[in-house]
Amino acid sequence: MQVKILGCSGGIGGDELQTTSILINENTIIDAGTGLVSLTLEQLTRINSIFITHAHMDHIASCPMLIDSTAELRTEPLVLYALSDTIDSIRKHIFNWEIWPDFSEINVKEFKSLKFCKVEVGDEFEIPGAGKIIVGPAKHQIQGCSYLLIGKHDKLFFSGDTSYDKSIIEFINHHKTINHIIIECAFSKKDQELAKLSNHLDAQSVTQMIKEFDCKSKIYITHLKPSQRDLIMDEILEDEELMKNYHVSRLFAYQVFTL
Ligand SMILES: [Zn+2]
Ligand SMILES: [Zn+2]
Repeated sequence: MQVKILGCSGGIGGDELQTTSILINENTIIDAGTGLVSLTLEQLTRINSIFITHAHMDHIASCPMLIDSTAELRTEPLVLYALSDTIDSIRKHIFNWEIWPDFSEINVKEFKSLKFCKVEVGDEFEIPGAGKIIVGPAKHQIQGCSYLLIGKHDKLFFSGDTSYDKSIIEFINHHKTINHIIIECAFSKKDQELAKLSNHLDAQSVTQMIKEFDCKSKIYITHLKPSQRDLIMDEILEDEELMKNYHVSRLFAYQVFTL
């Protein structure tokens, strides 16, 4: 399984700062943030499965135009997998014939262009030719989930957007041999209140959470607020106890993992 980071920033600002989207081999993505715009039309057309973590704009921004741009070129529907509340929000607020047409009702070819598939935490799906994906827990301002990717050799966990929560620590420790953990941190320590209010992690709470992981995974920090990205990383990396026991670094756009 090849996993390529298309976008991993908490905001936009040039090629390196695009919002969350992760490409798995050629046909599957996790989240459809602005990072997706780096793909060509041919590459976009090959995507037939999107696993969404939650309905916030920075994770779904490219969804409407992905389906519109590729509908006529598709040989099968685009399937959007997400938790029940996430699908309800996306249908109500985006594919509502007002902001965008409801492509799940449109036959551009002999099939509906878009299908929705509800998932629950614990569900497992095959990614053909790559491995599998398991829906994990998250605790965000709205309903959200994380995902665990299992390839032939390695495992990668992606937190999505989340605040500190025991269920995530238990999920990671239960799956033990996870080689790579991508975890969000949106704010620096000075914005702790804002982090709590918006159910994100800040430099202090992410450090606390990582220290409760049993495994010796490599940890990558994602979703950094663009204007605070260096400050947040400095605050995390200056924790001596953390750095003695864990390998922590910043996640970058276009980084590739082979699982
Ligand atoms: Zn969010
Ligand atoms: Zn986000």
